[in-house]
Amino acid sequence: MGKQLQVTERLYNYILEFGFRDDPLLQELRAETAKLPASMMQISPEQGQFMALLAQLMGVKKAIEIGTFTGYSSLSVARALPADGRLICCDVSEDYTAVARRYWAKAGVAGKIDLRLAPALETLAALKKTDAASFDMAFIDADKTNYQNYYEAVLDLLRPGGVMLIDNVLWGGDIADPAAKDAETLALRKLNSFVATDSRVDFCLLPVADGLTIARKR
Ligand code: CA
Repeated sequence: MGKQLQVTERLYNYILEFGFRDDPLLQELRAETAKLPASMMQISPEQGQFMALLAQLMGVKKAIEIGTFTGYSSLSVARALPADGRLICCDVSEDYTAVARRYWAKAGVAGKIDLRLAPALETLAALKKTDAASFDMAFIDADKTNYQNYYEAVLDLLRPGGVMLIDNVLWGGDIADPAAKDAETLALRKLNSFVATDSRVDFCLLPVADGLTIARKR
């Protein structure tokens, strides 16, 4: 059986140097977010690049994300959308998304983004009535105990062939540690085992950053 490469700090620095194309705006947002106590909620640079590339590969025009925080993922994806593309951002924090808004404006992508400040399940339920089966891509990166609910709601919103990305599915390694039994770990474990046998999707769990599941709606 093939062995997963251990990403040491040295190797990760190499990835950032040669596997990632940085730019001043992303750099600035990372630096600003790094000052926040919750900075670990930001996705990693190479993950942002991967998500942007995936959006380009799929020709994504309509996307949604659950959990926007200070906007790194939305900035990455919105820049990869065409001029008439649209990204709905769900979050509950006015403060964090105020940072995101500033960077969307600086990047000139604010016009593509529709921020919904409300519990995401409410936003998703409303969208189900107006926008069912119409999204090309979705990113789930919010409260882990609601992941299963987000998964079901997002599946309704994706078009057949649309893709959802689920973040933190390896949960710092706790996912495979039998001693870890906190609510978030249990919720992620439950979802991972559910997705593995869900015949409504094709999927792949990538050991990117903290673990990223890609599920394509059949
Ligand atoms: Ca995350």
